[in-house]
Amino acid sequence: MLAPVHEVPAFISGPKRHLINGQWVDAASGRQIDVVNPATGEVISQIAAGDATDIDRAVAAARRAFEGEWSRWTPHQRRKLLLKVHDVVLDNFEELATIETLDMGAPLQRTRGLAEWTSQVLQFFASQCDVATASTPPNSLPGNFLTLKHLAPVGVVGGVIPWNGPLIGLWWIFGPALATGCTAVLKPAEDASLSVLRIAELLTEAGVPDGVINVVTGYGAEAGQALSEHRDVDRLAFTGSVGTARSIVRASATNFKRLQLELGGKSPDIVFADADLDKAVPGAAMGVYTNSGQVCVAGSRILVQRPIYDEFVARIGEFTKTVRVGDGLDPNTQLGPLINQRQLDRVQQYIQIGGTEGAELVTGGNRLDHLGPGYFLEPTIFADATNTMTIAREEIFGPVASVIPFDDVEDALRIANDTEYGLAGGVWTRDLSTAHNVSRGIQAGTIWVNCYGVLDPSIGFGGYKMSGYGWKGAKEHVESYLYPKAVYINLD
Ligand code: NAP
Ligand code: MG
Repeated sequence: MLAPVHEVPAFISGPKRHLINGQWVDAASGRQIDVVNPATGEVISQIAAGDATDIDRAVAAARRAFEGEWSRWTPHQRRKLLLKVHDVVLDNFEELATIETLDMGAPLQRTRGLAEWTSQVLQFFASQCDVATASTPPNSLPGNFLTLKHLAPVGVVGGVIPWNGPLIGLWWIFGPALATGCTAVLKPAEDASLSVLRIAELLTEAGVPDGVINVVTGYGAEAGQALSEHRDVDRLAFTGSVGTARSIVRASATNFKRLQLELGGKSPDIVFADADLDKAVPGAAMGVYTNSGQVCVAGSRILVQRPIYDEFVARIGEFTKTVRVGDGLDPNTQLGPLINQRQLDRVQQYIQIGGTEGAELVTGGNRLDHLGPGYFLEPTIFADATNTMTIAREEIFGPVASVIPFDDVEDALRIANDTEYGLAGGVWTRDLSTAHNVSRGIQAGTIWVNCYGVLDPSIGFGGYKMSGYGWKGAKEHVESYLYPKAVYINLD
């Protein structure tokens, strides 16, 4: 199939470099990594393959910036900067959305739609520039003491983010760093670095001082590992898989970095018999399919109460057939490709396992060959799944839902919580008590009632159990970029 006609941003072409200390530099090794458009399989650009040497340079630049002029910026100056960043980023959002679509496949419908959210997130962090307030608590020391407590910026912050939404993920690091006076070194995913690099250009244009924000691209095992081991990185924010989190926790022991871990999930989305199915069917379906299922909070276990089970399965099957999959540059596309061949293979393998283990394939399951060499997969529904099946236990990170029947609230909660993850959950019901009881009972950091996946940065979200720790958004997030400090002053 021919790719739809759409203007390709000039930024895309030509090899990309790291941003270190305000300069665009090649990898010390000179190596590069091809950038592939997952909708076509074509190489569209190259990024620098950073390693420990590049990370070292970036961390040194971030340290110098942290201790230099930037440390004397007032909250008002940082707020003005964040608002300027807001304006510059929003002014260029159409280009950013197109870059993201070409680089990681999410449809323009989705990437363009992030403009308003980006505006909100940047304005939120701008509003947080003076959270580092001091207090003068009374003390019981003998003599004449004044005691102060305040919050100081934690220092150099490392960020490692996945490929599924860099245009969202980078603000969870850059936002609080700029708000608090920290500095940052970000290592985006090798599969989706372009929007991060373009944002880095825009940050420079907006007046972010040299060294305050640095971006080093490259492989996780090289650049990512070097960042998480680095002794001069004070805090590391990681979003990604459980396996990588384990190696990051180990690597962070070099200097006991403060960590924030946002990991995967196998979130339950629970539909009660009294739910409004006109909302619950598309709501639960898109709660799994959005971003082609490559979403950490995907409600991939849809639990449905028995009296409506058959009707629900039939209706979600019908709905699924209406979802438009294709090249994300087509404004009608709802779901783009998966990120790469490996991910497509992985998801297809899960689909095969689902069949072998006895789940009923209602619809989907196939690669969409007629869309060309891109990594397109039909959204897929399994019915008669049980919670012990592999497809209900492991994070698939693809557009695959398992529909599992349940009897009552107790049964629903037992199934919902029978997972090692605890990222999110959903409830569909018209009954207030059911909504509250189930929300309270699901062991997860974020619960949606009669909706799925909405997110306000001033409220935030977080994980529980193996889905990690550290709140994203809200004041708690900003405060995690600060450390408490007490000052004891002898006034005699
Ligand atoms: P991943 O393999 O863990 O990769 C995430 C990031 O870590 C990438 O930048 C990766 O680099 C890097 N990395 C890999 N090995 C590393 C190492 N040894 N040391 C340091 N960094 C390393 O995860 P993924 O498969 O790309 O992303 C999907 C996962 O992210 C899913 O589990 C999903 O649920 C989770 N996720 C969670 C959230 C959340 O907020 N909770 C949000 C989105 C995604 P390269 O890829 O460049 O090699
Ligand atoms: Mg790509």
